Amino acid sequence: MNTMPANDTAIKHAVHLLRQGRLVAFPTETVYGLGADASNSDAVKRIFQAKGRPANHPLIVHISSSDKLDDWAVDIPDMARILATHFWPGPLAMILSKQANVPLEVTGGQQTVALRVPNHPVALSLLKAFDGGIAAPSANRFCRISPTQSAHVREELGDNVDFILEGGSCQVGVESTIIDLSGDKPKLLRLGHITQVEIETVLNTQLIVNSRQSDIRAPGMMAVHYAPTTSAQLYPSDSFSNIVEEFCRQYKKIGLLAYNQQLKDNSQISIIYMPEQAEAYAQNLYASLRELDNLKLDIILIEQPPKSELWRAINDRLLKATSTV
Ligand code: AMP
Ligand code: MG
Repeated sequence: MNTMPANDTAIKHAVHLLRQGRLVAFPTETVYGLGADASNSDAVKRIFQAKGRPANHPLIVHISSSDKLDDWAVDIPDMARILATHFWPGPLAMILSKQANVPLEVTGGQQTVALRVPNHPVALSLLKAFDGGIAAPSANRFCRISPTQSAHVREELGDNVDFILEGGSCQVGVESTIIDLSGDKPKLLRLGHITQVEIETVLNTQLIVNSRQSDIRAPGMMAVHYAPTTSAQLYPSDSFSNIVEEFCRQYKKIGLLAYNQQLKDNSQISIIYMPEQAEAYAQNLYASLRELDNLKLDIILIEQPPKSELWRAINDRLLKATSTV
């Protein structure tokens, strides 16, 4: 396994490896992806092996521009073209009816495919140079915290990834919004940086919001996902400092992901103060959780941030990080 700054030589090498059916991790604006040639079933199978991900959990195919939509999807509704025009390149994945050639390994055996044009110069250069679709879920082991830096990818996958394109920290920090356009009505499957209200405004229609029943189709919606190995719990801001005091009596080493409570420091606790703005909070969320997780603490306590629209994807990930079912 090898990491290189994503210059022209590195991109060429990555393309060469992808053509050979090997795995290349690369930065996108959301999180780092673990990429394979989406038209090569064997290569795609390697993604599942490397992640330890069950084969029925479909992958997102990354494409270089909306001009490539018809190579991967059929019966594309107008809504998809409208959303592509507004939000691509960007953190929105669309589920559409798949083109006959799309391997079932990519789609988890379904007749639909998830497509996205990422908004990151390295991802776009790679896609253009490769001149094909790259299937890429987040470059972490199944159900673990997604990587937002190349070091996280190495930590997660070690030698299970052939090459890593180094591209700094991801700007958005949480996974893409996923919208299903393969049915009669558009459905929101996963919350992300692009909000439900933004999409509804552009489409001038209401989205059906996913319930937990559709978990199998979207592992991103599973209750336990994005979870640290250390047990993590989420508590309201106003009672947070009292809760911390209580936990200090029960546990030796406690990690705190604090939002706006100034907490009394002591030798038992490791505190990360999170940024006040939603965008910066999202950018730092996974790296901060990972940092606390690596300290081998007894428990991580998270102070509830605001719950408004801009914070919905963050709250979704916090609930999943702290869920035990
Ligand atoms: P990840 O890139 O690790 O966030 O995982 C990709 C996400 O896209 C998962 O939540 C998948 O379930 C979802 N996804 C990909 N293809 C489909 C599909 N055809 N139908 C529903 N969800 C999909
Ligand atoms: Mg993932």
